[in-house]
Amino acid sequence: MKLYSTLSRQLEELPPPPGPIRMYFCGPTVYQRAHIGNARPFAIGMWLRAWLRERGYDATLVHNITDINDKIYDAAPGASAELAAHATQWYLEDTRDLGLGMPDGLPKATDAVGSIVAFIEKLVAAGNAYEAGGDVYFSVSTDPGYGRLSRQKIENMEPEEESSIKHAPQDFALWKATKPGEDTSWGSPWGPGRPGWHIECSVMAEDAFGPVFEIHGGGLDLVFPHHENELAQSLALGHDFARIWMHNGLLTRSGEKMSKSLGNDMTIRGVIDEWGREVALLLLLSGQWRKPLDFNQGTLEQSRAQLETFRNVFRSPSEPVGEWTELEAALDDDFNTPEALAVMHSWRDHDLLRRAFAIFGLESIAELEKAPAELAALAERRREARDTMDFAESDRLRDEIAAAGWEVRDVAESPGYRLVRRS
Ligand SMILES: [Zn+2]
Repeated sequence: MKLYSTLSRQLEELPPPPGPIRMYFCGPTVYQRAHIGNARPFAIGMWLRAWLRERGYDATLVHNITDINDKIYDAAPGASAELAAHATQWYLEDTRDLGLGMPDGLPKATDAVGSIVAFIEKLVAAGNAYEAGGDVYFSVSTDPGYGRLSRQKIENMEPEEESSIKHAPQDFALWKATKPGEDTSWGSPWGPGRPGWHIECSVMAEDAFGPVFEIHGGGLDLVFPHHENELAQSLALGHDFARIWMHNGLLTRSGEKMSKSLGNDMTIRGVIDEWGREVALLLLLSGQWRKPLDFNQGTLEQSRAQLETFRNVFRSPSEPVGEWTELEAALDDDFNTPEALAVMHSWRDHDLLRRAFAIFGLESIAELEKAPAELAALAERRREARDTMDFAESDRLRDEIAAAGWEVRDVAESPGYRLVRRS
């Protein structure tokens, strides 16, 4: 199986099964109801784990929760910890309702502060970091390969924050001294403060897997500075860190960047409530994971139509059409889910489709709705009318069933008809 890596800018072959394949996917900063954009790396990670397990790998997914961050302090002055705790629960509920199961580990930054302080102390001792005014900064000039992931020259990099106490503009904070208005802080050798964002992920990934693991994932907007800096910190301690870096394309809304400030964002909760989780998952599957994907009325309606097409396959008898190897070819080639969807649309074999749907959390498509008892009784009376050649009564009953939104179809197997909800 091959996956594209941002680090090498090429497709990388995975080791043969059983691996292990250890995956760390960056999760959300928790301060509001999560944006549908956060569902993409979550779903890709969960689908990839399911597919790797199907292919015989020992696959593990860790997905972190960033619950210490400037955005949280800004969103809830004086009550940031309470907001982060609530928003963590919302995120867990919303992602659970996607119906894909949950990652193997969901570490929170607040639970990792002790390990983070220990990691920073090692960087300071090794000469890769320095203390200044209660902050600690990583010194990018100590890393000759800095820029290896985003392939930028240091002089062209946008400094993350301006500060007169840094030795160089691109140096980034590992530890930030507590500022007025910040209502949470932790003790450290440099005084009270809290970790920087990048060091949180280096430490949570290494706490979960040790210093070397196979895949690091996240949105394309995390390549720089977040992942560049994670890599620099870990390599500075002589750790190899992640081998393959998967960056998913971002979601757009009618071609525009989706963001709360533009007022065009959609939440995971909103999409599930309005369209249903199956439509959301089919739309996420319709885009190649590296490319941008547009969420709008039109693409959501297309996914709803796809859902109906799949349901119709289960309203008809199963036919031996489809080969599992077709799905393997699509997914083993850089996890090409749009190709996998096309393959599944060509299949008519119910068992094969059920097996594929199970990978993507879509088993429910195969469960046909059961008709209400009174309609089942009408269908039974229609069968009796047909048996006695009373076609006028049989047609009348068919129309009565249709008026209730159902269709009665004659089929070979017992009891000779099937009730199907009309879309
Ligand atoms: Zn991260």
